[in-house]
Parts: sequence; structure tokens; C-alpha cells
Amino acid sequence: VRLATFAAGNERRVGVVESVDPVSPEDPGEWVRDVTALVGTDDLADVISRWKELSGRLEAEADAAPLAPVGFQWLAPFPRPARNVFCIGKNYREHVQEVGDQTGQPGLPSRPIVFTKPPSAVIGPDAPIDPHAGVTSALDYEAELAVIIGPGGSDIAEKDAARHIWGYTIVNDVTARDRQRDHGQWFLGKGLDTFCPMGPWAASAEEVDPAGQGRPDVTVRCWVNGELRQQGRTRDLIFDIPQLITTLSAGLTLEPGDVISTGTPSGVGIGFNPPRLLRPGDVVEVAIDGLGRLRNQVRS
Ligand code: MG
Repeated sequence: VRLATFAAGNERRVGVVESVDPVSPEDPGEWVRDVTALVGTDDLADVISRWKELSGRLEAEADAAPLAPVGFQWLAPFPRPARNVFCIGKNYREHVQEVGDQTGQPGLPSRPIVFTKPPSAVIGPDAPIDPHAGVTSALDYEAELAVIIGPGGSDIAEKDAARHIWGYTIVNDVTARDRQRDHGQWFLGKGLDTFCPMGPWAASAEEVDPAGQGRPDVTVRCWVNGELRQQGRTRDLIFDIPQLITTLSAGLTLEPGDVISTGTPSGVGIGFNPPRLLRPGDVVEVAIDGLGRLRNQVRS
């Protein structure tokens, strides 16, 4: 199942995404059924925390739910997550090579590098990315597969990790490279307002990972102004998702709706010579198999 948070007028709603035959080339072919009344909440994290109770009801009754009104707006699946989005740095070899020592932490990591983005950084599809011109002159993009935690837990063994995964979504780990480099840590360069585009929807695990082992093999792509910049496969992660869950959950309780962004493949702007960083007006699109396409424009 694919779940979304959306806005209809001024109201936040949750829905089930369904595909329909596109009626025109511009038609994305995705529509949403409004299940807010059916599940009794407009908070997707709440739906996921009650998944045992709600999944059967959604399966049986979502088809009869009303369609979202024409002109509805996609929001991030978790527009204001309960806590920070966990992110993994330098988790694809070719990306580690392309960024070299520009991250302040040279070389292949021997353990996962973890940082976070505050809830205030999250934006949804089509929302503008603030270039923060007074703060940074090195704005960059990072297309990433993100994991959504289902049943919470701590001290999760790798062999049990898949049971704690509800599903997946897309994150663009927008980064101020100069802040990342100059401050010797990553929060300041990656936690700015609007630096966590997320969505357009949240897909349950079986949609993306049929084997159910928490090791999906999907293609992650990123375009800037229509030009393909990144194309990687998640089988190339240095630390796979069960390893990440084990590392993160050691002495730290993961909760339903927590998001872990797994790192970006090569092709980021700073990796080019000369760098090809983002400018006001640029359009960044990230697509992952089964997870749709996340489009955001840098505010002019
Ligand atoms: Mg990243």
C-alpha cells in the first residue's frame, strides 16, 4: 500500500495512493483516496503506529473512500515529524570518492556516519527550497532512499531489522557544502529550513522490497533542470539498512514513523569539476522505483 499526506484547502488529510491510466502526458497517473475518516487521524505516523489494527481496515474499505479533490496538494508523508530525521553520510563508495575530503571526514567510513535534520527542515513535493543566500554559497542536492520505521524498538539485531521496517519514501538531503566543511560536522550544513524535501508518498515495505529482508534493490535517480545527475542502486550501500537499524537502535529506541535516510549515490554538485551547485530557480527531481518522483525548485 502507498500512503500519502495531502492538503485539501487548509485541511491536512491522509490518503491511499492509487494508480490510474494517465489521460494525458502531463497526468502523473496517481490519485489519492481520502481515508482520514476511515483511520480517524490526519497523522501518518499515528496510522503506522496502529498498523496492525488499521491495515486490514484500509485493505477492505479504502476503495470506497472518496477521491481527494482536484487540485489537492501533496505534503511530505510526515510534514512535521515527531523528532529529527536520521541521516547516513558517505554510504556509497563512488560518492565517498567524489566528495574526497570536502566533508571534513576523509576516507571510507569504517562505521556508519550519522547526523540528523530537525523536523523544521522538512518540506513536501513542489514546496520551494530556500537557498539561504546569507548563510551559504554552496547549495547542493542528494537523492536518497529513506526507511520508515514501523514497530519501534531498541537494540535491534540485524536479523530482526526487517520486522521494524514499515516502508520507504524519498528524501532529498539538501546540503550547504561550505557549512558542512567549515564547521567540521554536518548538522549546520544540512539542518536548515527546507533542507529536507520528502515524499511524495510512503510505500509499505512489500512495494519496494518484495524479498522482505530490508535490503531493497532499487534505482535512485536525480535530475537538475531535467539533466540526469545521479543514478545509483541501493544494493551498493556500504552499510545496508539492517546494519543501519542495528547501529541506530543501540541504546536508542526507534519509534513508529521515524525516518532514516540511507545516503546518496555519486553525482552530487560538489563532485563535479568545477562544482555544479544549485542556483535560485533550479528544479531538482528525485525518483526511486515504486516511490514516485519528488520535485522541488530552489526559490528565486
Ligand atoms: Mg546525504
